[in-house]
Amino acid sequence: SPHVMMIRDGAEVFAREHNVEMVPESYFFTESRWNALQRALEAQGRPMPQRPPGVAGGADEAAHEDDPEHKFGTVGAVALDRHGNIAAATSTGGMTAKRFGRVGDVPIIGGGTYANQQCGVSATGHGEFFIRNVVAYDICARMQYLGISLQQAADDVVMNRLVQQGGDGGIIALDARGNFAMPFNSAGMYRGRIDAAGRVTTAIFRDER
Ligand code: ASP
Repeated sequence: SPHVMMIRDGAEVFAREHNVEMVPESYFFTESRWNALQRALEAQGRPMPQRPPGVAGGADEAAHEDDPEHKFGTVGAVALDRHGNIAAATSTGGMTAKRFGRVGDVPIIGGGTYANQQCGVSATGHGEFFIRNVVAYDICARMQYLGISLQQAADDVVMNRLVQQGGDGGIIALDARGNFAMPFNSAGMYRGRIDAAGRVTTAIFRDER
């Protein structure tokens, strides 16, 4: 498509036309996220919605998802190909107990996701802060305008600018030379990388960057 961004019905039609696999809403249901939602709504004195159709009760598969330290369920990827093209992608269920109609940073190009010829960024965290600060674009722009490294630009934004404002989260980023940065100001961030030689590294807490 010549377009950069499509939403709702039009996006679904486009996806179907391109044979993207479709699944029922119940596919996305997990008992642990449902329980987390229930607790968040109760705490805010808000009513609980109906269980979605086609979903049976069951055991809690992943208890740690209820832990406030693990409240972000976003998945992101940034890749550099052999021709020097950079791509970034981010997918999320958003934040627990968000308002109906709320749009987070993830689909906002430049907010939670961005790539140009020099740099690609995918973010996770408290989306409102990432939108206000246009975080993904800001990191790439700082690199370009200030002539600083990706790591420096990413640290300046995630570890300084966002921290000053109380914006929790982190990012994964790559530049055109294959340098990467994965700073986060939360307790942990599930992350991994693979380099051109096939070396894989994964980490959760502050043990590797
Ligand atoms: N950034 C996402 C949002 O605000 C949440 C997340 O990263 O889990 O919707």
